[in-house]
Amino acid sequence: MKDTKAIPYKIYLEEKELPTTWYNVRADMKNKPAPLLNPGTLQPMKAEELAGVFCDELVKQELDNDTRYYPIPQEIVDFYKMYRPSPLVRAYCLEKKLGTPAKIYYKFEGNNTSGSHKLNSAIAQAYYAKQQGLKGVTTETGAGQWGTALSMACSYFGLDCKVYMVKVSYEQKPFRREVMRTYGASVVPSPSNTTNVGRAILEQFPGTTGSLGCAISEAVEVAVSNPGYRYVLGSVLNQVLLHQSVIGVETKIAMDKYGIVPDIIIGCAGGGSNLGGLIAPFMGEKLRGEKDYRFIAVEPASCPSFTRGKFAYDFCDTGKVCPMAKMYTLGSGFIPAPNHAGGLRYHGMSSILSQLYHDGYMEARSVEQTSVFKAAEEFARVEGILPAPESAHAIRAAIDEALKCKETGEEKTILFGLTGTGYFDMVAYEKFHDGLMSDYIPSDEELQKGFDGLPKVD
Ligand SMILES: *Cc1c(COP(=O)(O)O)cnc(C)c1O
Repeated sequence: MKDTKAIPYKIYLEEKELPTTWYNVRADMKNKPAPLLNPGTLQPMKAEELAGVFCDELVKQELDNDTRYYPIPQEIVDFYKMYRPSPLVRAYCLEKKLGTPAKIYYKFEGNNTSGSHKLNSAIAQAYYAKQQGLKGVTTETGAGQWGTALSMACSYFGLDCKVYMVKVSYEQKPFRREVMRTYGASVVPSPSNTTNVGRAILEQFPGTTGSLGCAISEAVEVAVSNPGYRYVLGSVLNQVLLHQSVIGVETKIAMDKYGIVPDIIIGCAGGGSNLGGLIAPFMGEKLRGEKDYRFIAVEPASCPSFTRGKFAYDFCDTGKVCPMAKMYTLGSGFIPAPNHAGGLRYHGMSSILSQLYHDGYMEARSVEQTSVFKAAEEFARVEGILPAPESAHAIRAAIDEALKCKETGEEKTILFGLTGTGYFDMVAYEKFHDGLMSDYIPSDEELQKGFDGLPKVD
C-alpha cells in the first residue's frame, strides 16, 4: 500500500486525537478467559468476595467480559497528558544497520519518571481507590518498576502506599527504593516480620531473599486486615490489561492516521500487561475476522510460562491466599533463576493472553539472556534509547524478524513495544559487558517440580 501522507520520524498524536476509551478485548473473545476461583470452594469468585481485596470499580472491571469500551475518567486523562501520547517511532537507524527491507516501528512507554508502561494502570487503580474514599493501597514489587509507578500515582491522589519489595531487590536496588520514598511510599523488604505469612516464611526459610509470590501474600494480608486499604496488582489481571489498552488504542489511531498496517506485533511478556495492551485493538480486529496480524509474545528462556508451561488453574502467590487463575503457568512454587529481567520473572501469565494463545491467536517464543542484552546494546547504539532488559526481549524478536525479511526480501512492517528504560539495571549491563552473564535454562525435571505443585482442579 502506498503511503498517503509523509510519515514523520516520530509520530506524536495531537491532544484532540488521544484515546478517550480503553478497549476491553474480552468483549470480542468467543472463548472468554476462565474465571478466578475461590481457592477454598473452587467456585468462581463473586464480586462480594473480591471486594475485600480490590476496589469496587476494579472488581467490576475484572469480572466484565462484555463491555467493549470503557470511557477513561477525565482525571486519568488529565494525568495521562503529563506523559502521553507516547511516541510511535520508526527505527530507521536500526533498519539501516540491519540492512533489512522491513519497516520497524516501536511504541516507547519509558518516557515518564517511573520509566515504564506500568504508570498507565497505576494511575487508574489509584484513582478508583481515591473515588471509593480509601486511605491507601498495598502492593508488592520485584524489580521495582511497579512500586515506583504506584507510588507516583498515590502521591498524585494523596493516598498512602505500602510497598512490599522482594528482599533481594530491596538490597540490590537502593535507588529504586529511594524513588519510591521520594514519592512518599513506605517500602518494606519481603519477607518481613510485619505479617503472619511473612513471619511463617521467615521461620521456615531463614535467610531467604524473598520472591514475588511471597511479597504478594504479604501485601494482600496487610490490605485485608487494615480498614480503608485495598490491594493493587501491576500486571496479570484483566483490569490491568484493560488500562494498558491505552497503548494499543493510541498506536492504532496513529497508524491509521498515516495508513500504516503492521504485519507483525511483538511484545515482551512477564504477566502480559504491556503485550495485552499493545495488541488489544489489533487482536479485536482479528477476533472479529476483519484483519489478520501475527502476534508474538517474547519471554525469557529462564521463565518460559507460555512456551513450556501448562494451561491450568494455579495459585497466583506463594502463600496461596489469592484467588486461583487459569493460565499458562510454571507452578506457583517455581522459582526462576536470577535472570536480570526482573519484570519477566512471574510464574504465570494473564488469563486473557493465555486463552488467546491456547486458541491459536498468538505465538510465543523464548530467548536467552545474553542474546537479549546483545540486542539491547545494538538498539541503544543506533536508536539512542537505553532499553530495560525486559523491553529488550521484544527488541531481540523484532531484530530476528527483520533479519528474516532480509533473507527473503519481504518488506514487512514490524511493530514492537518498547516498555521502558534501563537506567536502574546497569548492574545487569555490567555483568553482560564483563562476560559474567549466564543463560540458565531450567531442565524438564526442574519444571516438573513446579507442575507437581499445581492444585487439582477439574
Ligand atoms: C513490568 C515490566 C514488564 C513486564 O510486565 P508485563 O505485565 O508483562 O508487561 C516489561 N517491561 C517493563 C519495563 C516492565 O517494567
